[in-house]
Amino acid sequence: MNKAREPGVTGASANAAKRGLVGNFIGGRVVEASSPRRQAITNPATGEVSGEAVLSNAADVGAAVAAASAAFPAWAAMAPLRRARLMNRLLALVEQHKQELGRAITLEHGKVLSDAVGEVERGIEIIEFACGIPQLLKGDYTEQVATGIDNWTMRQPLGVVAGITPFNFPVMVPAWMYPVALATGNTFVLKPSPLDPTPSLLMAELIREAGFPDGVFNVVQGDKEAVDALLVHPDVQALSFVGSTPVAQSIYETGARHGKRVQALGGAKNHLVVMPDADIDKAVDALIGAAFGSAGERCMAISVAVLVGSAADAVLPQLQQRARELRIGPGVQDSSEMGPIVSAAARQRIRAAIDAGVAAGASLLVDGREFQVPGHEGGFFLGATVFDHVRPEMALYREEIFGPVLACVRVPSFDQALQLINSHEYGNGVSLFTSDGGVAREFARRVQVGMVGVNVPIPVPMSWHGFGGWKRSLFGDMHAYGEEGVRFYTRQKSVMQRWPDSIAKGAEFAMPNAR
Ligand code: NAD
Repeated sequence: MNKAREPGVTGASANAAKRGLVGNFIGGRVVEASSPRRQAITNPATGEVSGEAVLSNAADVGAAVAAASAAFPAWAAMAPLRRARLMNRLLALVEQHKQELGRAITLEHGKVLSDAVGEVERGIEIIEFACGIPQLLKGDYTEQVATGIDNWTMRQPLGVVAGITPFNFPVMVPAWMYPVALATGNTFVLKPSPLDPTPSLLMAELIREAGFPDGVFNVVQGDKEAVDALLVHPDVQALSFVGSTPVAQSIYETGARHGKRVQALGGAKNHLVVMPDADIDKAVDALIGAAFGSAGERCMAISVAVLVGSAADAVLPQLQQRARELRIGPGVQDSSEMGPIVSAAARQRIRAAIDAGVAAGASLLVDGREFQVPGHEGGFFLGATVFDHVRPEMALYREEIFGPVLACVRVPSFDQALQLINSHEYGNGVSLFTSDGGVAREFARRVQVGMVGVNVPIPVPMSWHGFGGWKRSLFGDMHAYGEEGVRFYTRQKSVMQRWPDSIAKGAEFAMPNAR
């Protein structure tokens, strides 16, 4: 474990760049895949192919799980304090490389660089949380449950656990999983999205450079084939999934059928309610940032504005103007506020959803369908799109679009706003803008959604609070990261002990430590 490490990030990225191939990281190094399948990686700002991702098969997955299984006993036996110290080194390295990670995200995902670096920073917060693992793993103890008998509980790691992650946060979402999984003593296999696979290899190199033993963290690139192999592999104890709802549900059901613990976070349709007494300028700022930031490709993006009573007439003129003025361009360009859509196929799907909204009779106030960035005609750009008079029965309201499309729904009262939100099949995030504390309190209490913001547009919880939606936005019992994450990646053992009287074994003069 203490063997010298070569300086990190450049290793894997240089290899990948040389071959144009983003491969698997197994047992502490980038390895050749046995699968011949590949998927092109495209820069969404230009439409140019920048490389290829390996699409792993069951043999590749088997190799990653074998490496993780081999590393597990020693890793699980290591003192939590020592695991926390490695996590501390990782924290420093990710901090040091966050611009490089951000750039890698922007080149394959498309989001603007400041947002990409922001994503890395939110990931860093989970690593920080995991540095406190000795405290989090403290058990409970009851002395003298009967004469001479004590009872305590402790939490132990599960074994090999896997993470399957979406394209939209290639650094942050894996970081919802592996810091807590590793700190609690599990070994990890990550299956990232093939659309933007490079950041996963950069992270693997940093984990290696921090001094984590080989095999503790592994990456298999791929698609459904690799996921299916993880789902049925007998040595995978738990699966964390983040992605769209149909896949989340199927992973939850299949994983459970194969005896695995599963948390599967799905899609969303997040509402932002504007009350007539809200600070309208701030509400418009919030809507613009939360609907169009990262081109709406965030699970916590706001895709529905619920305008209560007179709020509609106050909000809509400003909202339209600001949507038209949005600076859209390549993510690497400092002036850009919104980058391209991740792929040509996703852009096509979003355009079709806008077409369907028009056909269903919603009023199209701002139309982003034909938007182009001069000089970047090959890029997958869309403009911001705003609809008014959207009704609950329209697909535009019901379905997740996952693009820069904001649907405005007018309702006469707070109660109707609440009823609308509570009737939706998704329950990931929600936000309320008001200046009335009593209304805000009622909203937080009665809304059927897992993460609530009051005058905060995207209420992504801090690392020690845990992240998770309700209803069809999450399948499973536990939220990601925070103490729920610690519980997910550990199982409880209860020990009851009785000892015959014993005498002290003699003096020790050295300070005891975590060896
Ligand atoms: P996706 O469901 O297409 O893919 C997610 C992961 O599953 C990827 O690794 C992908 O390779 C794999 N996958 C895709 N189809 C599969 C299949 N049929 N069987 C097995 N595995 C499969 O999601 P995406 O397009 O990458 O990401 C966007 C979606 O993720 C949106 O629905 C968004 O709301 C959701 N998301 C949710 C959260 C959350 O916290 N709830 C966070 C981020 C993204």
